Amino acid sequence: MKEKLKNYLRAAYPLLYVVSWEEARLEGSLKSVCDDLGYGLRCWSITEGLLDVTTGSASVLQDPIDVLGAIPEMPEKTVVLLRDFHAFLGDEPQPVNPLIARAIRDLVRTLKTRQQCLVICAPLLRLPEELEREVVVVEHELPGRMDLGAVIDGISKSADLPLVVSDERDRLLDACMGMTTSEAENALSLSFVETERLDSSVVSRQKAEAVKKGQLLELYDNPGSLDDIGGLDALKAWLAQRKDAFSSRAKDFGLPSPKGLLLVGLPGCGKSLSAKACAAAWERPLLRLDCGRLFGGLVGESERNLRRVIQVAEAVAPAILWIDEIEKGLSGSSSSSSTDGGTSARVLGSMLSWMEEKTASVFVIATANDVSALPPELLRKGRFDETFFVDLPGEDERRKILEIHIEKRGRDPRLFDLVSLAKACDQFSGAEIEASILSGMFAAFESEQELETSHVGEAIGQTVPLAQTAREKISSLRDWAKTRARPAASAAKLSALRKLETLS
Ligand code: ATP
Repeated sequence: MKEKLKNYLRAAYPLLYVVSWEEARLEGSLKSVCDDLGYGLRCWSITEGLLDVTTGSASVLQDPIDVLGAIPEMPEKTVVLLRDFHAFLGDEPQPVNPLIARAIRDLVRTLKTRQQCLVICAPLLRLPEELEREVVVVEHELPGRMDLGAVIDGISKSADLPLVVSDERDRLLDACMGMTTSEAENALSLSFVETERLDSSVVSRQKAEAVKKGQLLELYDNPGSLDDIGGLDALKAWLAQRKDAFSSRAKDFGLPSPKGLLLVGLPGCGKSLSAKACAAAWERPLLRLDCGRLFGGLVGESERNLRRVIQVAEAVAPAILWIDEIEKGLSGSSSSSSTDGGTSARVLGSMLSWMEEKTASVFVIATANDVSALPPELLRKGRFDETFFVDLPGEDERRKILEIHIEKRGRDPRLFDLVSLAKACDQFSGAEIEASILSGMFAAFESEQELETSHVGEAIGQTVPLAQTAREKISSLRDWAKTRARPAASAAKLSALRKLETLS
């Protein structure tokens, strides 16, 4: 950030808008850049008025128009930081105060020649059209390991704890990455209050809360394991083979970092489960993006949302970014110029170029049910390392899924006739098999019996699987997958499934 600010000042940019929650960190960066370049720094807020950070003198200029009016009187080479100035720049349906817009536009002409710079710092971007061309919007990256290391040391010192070193420090830093400095401070303090030490699991828990507040992402810290998945052997083998692909050993060996995976398939067949299991197998945090939420009503909001998502994912890296139901967000991209003013197309473009150029270790797993809604650009060779098709489970897989879920409900699978149950639930998805076990449990509970094969068998008999009502959709998805995707189940199992289907 400092380098970026320094270059803008050197190039005499008159007006910067930094989108950030972290005024104090921005002020610290600005102070150090101003000291380096010999600039003065003044900070303004409506509550505190104007403070000359360099000399420490303050004036009670609380009115935003007064402070703008005072700038020409300030010395050349001065930076003025305006806190929360977005509040005076209007918002739909309220237009910007014309006096403020005019005062800023008047100033822009002289700021450049006098090497003065106005820096607006606000948690939200509110840019009236009148000022769009005058302002440069700067994203404030989340704090890096050095900044957060200083926070950890500061808290250790104030709580009189021994300095945290080596592995424990790395774990704490990993847990703090992706938070603002004040969020990290709060999480570390809470950890001290709860456990009397700095505990990375408490910090991770708080980070999950902090990420959720942004409403775009959800953080799963301990999402499951590859053993939770019945079948999908080819996919599991692919994931297991790349477990250490982000390591420096893999880099030295000449391997490129894996980019991402597209999982296409029928609902309830384990795509989401696989995304979670991948994070667990690779021991990486999993960030789930609800693609539909990316799109906001205001101009530029969707692109900004995507930038925020990327910012958090890169800060948490190495991490897995799971884009759930990607088709829901991007389906409008091909026809979007007529339907949404081109927003989906622009978001897709930004997402694809980030995926292509990203240097941070963020592995993208995109999941989709409906391939007809996927934009062709996304499917072009090279976007993802691999596209897997997740089909209905074959008989062996169904037996394994039954075993997993019966065991999950605290029963011994050896006491059940898994072979006949697996035959009975032909054409069922994993989710439908799980639901049948639950229905069987309710029936057993109602009749005050222990769960048995017959309860599950009856529940299976009463279920009409989605596959039966959506035959056409399934066969067109299979046709699509034949030439474009790898089966997530191993080839032998898949051919057994096909044989069964021809018989039925
Ligand atoms: P959707 O497209 O509807 O989101 P999905 O393919 O992502 O479906 P999941 O959410 O992964 O499906 O599956 C729903 C639930 O079904 C899982 O939480 C899991 O309990 C069970 N399930 C599905 N497939 C499997 C499987 N192969 N092994 C074990 N459980 C499975």
